[in-house]
Amino acid sequence: MKLVRFTKEGSGPERIGVLAGEQVHDLTVLLNDAGLEPHVDPMVRLIWNWDRLRTAVEQLSQARGGHRLAEVRLGPPLRRPGKIVAAPANYIRHVQEMEVNGLAPNPGTGIAVQGIFLKAPSSIVGPGDTIELPYPDRRTDHEVELALVMGKEARHVAAERAFDYIFGYTAVIDVTLRGKEDRGTRKNFDSFTPLGPVLVTADEIPDAHDVDLELSVNGQLRQQGNTRDFTWNINRMIAYASSVMTLEPGDLFITGTPEGVGPLEDGDTVTIRLSHIGEMSVNVTGRRSRG
Ligand code: MN
Repeated sequence: MKLVRFTKEGSGPERIGVLAGEQVHDLTVLLNDAGLEPHVDPMVRLIWNWDRLRTAVEQLSQARGGHRLAEVRLGPPLRRPGKIVAAPANYIRHVQEMEVNGLAPNPGTGIAVQGIFLKAPSSIVGPGDTIELPYPDRRTDHEVELALVMGKEARHVAAERAFDYIFGYTAVIDVTLRGKEDRGTRKNFDSFTPLGPVLVTADEIPDAHDVDLELSVNGQLRQQGNTRDFTWNINRMIAYASSVMTLEPGDLFITGTPEGVGPLEDGDTVTIRLSHIGEMSVNVTGRRSRG
């Protein structure tokens, strides 16, 4: 199934839904006690309650009616996951380009050396939104990645059991300011985590180690890779991350980027495309919004 966040006619409160073909079916009816408080993400609540609600979601996805996809505005499938856990430098050719360009912050890169890092949920934006460059004169890069969505509490998970804990998948751009600040600063400016366009349940991807990823800027292809080139595979990543911290339903794990990272500029349009997940574009501005 394909799960989405949407607003009707581009405005009003956000809802979550299931996308079937070109129809979006509102799941608010199943979560009628959810979504009232801004800190509660109804998608996270759906995932926590999936065993109980799954059949009803399937039935709704096959119902008549719903909203036409063309008439809604999609948002990020998850807006307030508990946390976003991230793998640094997890494709060998990306590690090499970082070293050649002097961008590798440490002499050794990758999870084995650097461990994992965290991104703030407040940095999430969705399809059609805008990445704001905080320092337009400094290099800020795009990194297209496959994002895992956790489905169960995971603590000290054995590598061979890792997929039992995955609810589904979505796509992400891990926007990164280059420089000497800690990653906690450089990767967590507001708008630095575009997510979407949909969350696909795990059954929609037959082999998560064979997902094509592409990123283009203004129509020009910049990154092209496949998750078969991970240096640490998903089993190993989940086993390691869950040995550090408990992964909870709705948490995101972003799996690293293939080679071809490059700078974003004011006025760019960035498009990502992942097999089974789909395509999403976001804009870039060097002008900071006031608010
Ligand atoms: Mn990354």
